[in-house]
Amino acid sequence: MGSIQQFKIYVLDPFHQDAIDLVQSLPHVQVILPDDPQKTYWHADADGIMIRSDSRLTEEDFAKAACLRAVVKQGVGVDNIDLAGAKKHGIAVHNTPALNSESVAELSMALTLTLSRRVSEIDRAVRSGQRVVRSTMLSTSMFRKRVGVVGMGNIGKIVAQKWIGAFECEIVAYDPYAPADAWKGLNHIRVDALDKLLKDVDVVTLHVPLLESTRGLISDHELSIMKDNAILVNCARGGVVDEKALLRALDEKKMGGAALDVMEIEPPTLDVYGEFLKHENVIMTPHIGGSTKENQSRTGRAVVETLMDVLEGREAGGKLV
Ligand code: NAD
Repeated sequence: MGSIQQFKIYVLDPFHQDAIDLVQSLPHVQVILPDDPQKTYWHADADGIMIRSDSRLTEEDFAKAACLRAVVKQGVGVDNIDLAGAKKHGIAVHNTPALNSESVAELSMALTLTLSRRVSEIDRAVRSGQRVVRSTMLSTSMFRKRVGVVGMGNIGKIVAQKWIGAFECEIVAYDPYAPADAWKGLNHIRVDALDKLLKDVDVVTLHVPLLESTRGLISDHELSIMKDNAILVNCARGGVVDEKALLRALDEKKMGGAALDVMEIEPPTLDVYGEFLKHENVIMTPHIGGSTKENQSRTGRAVVETLMDVLEGREAGGKLV
């Protein structure tokens, strides 16, 4: 009888307990958790890595990792992993696409409604003991508004459907790379240039990956052509919005507001983002798009399953390299 292969898996970032329980229940797997001092030495003997957005993996890391065969990233965005570097050293990289789309779509809508209905601002006023005069605190309804969705992938499509279903919104969508079937059955206004969308909508919600081609996608020009009272929502990645340009537009009161779940420097702190947070019409959350209990459990377990599939030679989803 052949012996069962043993694997050493390093968990580089904090995962939901359900994922930890699952990986630790595997008899032929040795697990090193993020708070284990041994974690630092993963280059020496890791067969597999479980990662989220907190750690970074560079080409140098991959060059040193003699035994490493697979990295699995929880979630979609893999901008913290050098994919070309992994490829060069023959290391498979997978993510867990689509699993957290509902949670991110929900947050994008929650932030939009919080801004349009001025919920945070009014809550702050109440908490600070101010008597809120309702007639001076009018907000904006989202019912039948025009929502611009930039990026019609897994998340963008769900966001579009939810705005239509719940608020009878009209969707203007821009995605030059989406396959034809991405639009199937959807009653959207599809535009072939970002400017056409920006000029025409009450909300711009971003759902594109961070690539060289999307870095600074929303900058001075784009902000200048948005309607004066339009809201910008970024639940995609920091860097897609040029933050200096955004601060200028907010300072010059050229927009309705901005909601950012992602920033260039995360997590957001007052010393870096204090100037943004002086604006009542800005909301910031620390990259919590996928942070629901349901989603963390589901995607965390998917990471373990995908990693074991790769290490044990089965076909696995979310393959990037
Ligand atoms: P996806 O790959 O399914 O869709 C991305 C879409 O963007 C694709 O259809 C692509 O064609 C389109 N696109 C690329 N470049 C574009 C451009 N220049 N203009 C317009 N469209 C463009 O990805 P997804 O699952 O929908 O996720 C989108 C992004 O959301 C991820 O890349 C990730 O960075 C981010 N995200 C954030 C959180 C969070 O916690 N806030 C969680 C998950 C994902």
